[in-house]
Amino acid sequence: MTTPGWLVTAGFAACLTLGFSDCRHTSPPTKGTPEQRDFQSERRHMVNSQIRARGIQNTEVLEAMAKVPRHEFIPAGMRDYAYSDTPLPIGEGQTISQPYIVALMTELAAPRRGQRILEVGTGSGYQAAVLAELTGEVYTIEIVAPLAERAGETLERLGYKNVTVRTGDGYRGWPEKAPFHSILVTAAAGQIPQPLLDQMAEGGKLIMPVGEIGDVQSLTVVTRKSGKFVREEVLPVRFVPLTGEAQKPR
Ligand code: SAM
Repeated sequence: MTTPGWLVTAGFAACLTLGFSDCRHTSPPTKGTPEQRDFQSERRHMVNSQIRARGIQNTEVLEAMAKVPRHEFIPAGMRDYAYSDTPLPIGEGQTISQPYIVALMTELAAPRRGQRILEVGTGSGYQAAVLAELTGEVYTIEIVAPLAERAGETLERLGYKNVTVRTGDGYRGWPEKAPFHSILVTAAAGQIPQPLLDQMAEGGKLIMPVGEIGDVQSLTVVTRKSGKFVREEVLPVRFVPLTGEAQKPR
């Protein structure tokens, strides 16, 4: 099966990295009903052709990506494309990010066992599940209530007991559970919300697409070192906007 053109054009071109268009048509041929499909080998193919091939090396991240069933986080009608190299619609005008972006943000976050991670932008819950495979506790906030509810149900059904989902605006983070070793923001804004910087642990990392909405943003990594915030721009990306307080004029 190849990814159809409509899937990678503007409507769903959110939450993906730019400049890898040659890697888009890499899904193996698949046949049969979802029940008959060999999702595990599709996942292995996804890891090898889309993720490892682009330079993700952390073996624990690769194993987590090979383990978490992305098709379970996607509306039933889209499951044929679950392991395609693209973001996909999840309802409410939102998307699940491209698999490579999920792997890259996870590798940049460098999660370890016993740590606490915050995600802003739960969406389908998929990124939270990947993080949950690699760390102690995941706290994830979603502003769109039906998405938060569905993600919570999916994560519970799949047995992820170390993920807590909250409905709300993630702009202010989750102060009761701070500090966090890593913070992943999976929606874009012109500036990093100060409350999230304040909730980073010493030595911790924040990963977020920063830049103009509707345009290309920079996937940015901030590391907190001796109380200072060191910024690094990693990759041009295109994400959906961080809504709510982030959009208020300042
Ligand atoms: N990480 C998600 C996944 O694995 O499916 C994909 C996230 S999607 C690209 C971005 C999500 O951020 C959307 O579901 C959107 O509703 C959510 N969002 C946008 N602004 C938000 C905010 N201020 N607080 C929390 N969530 C927000």
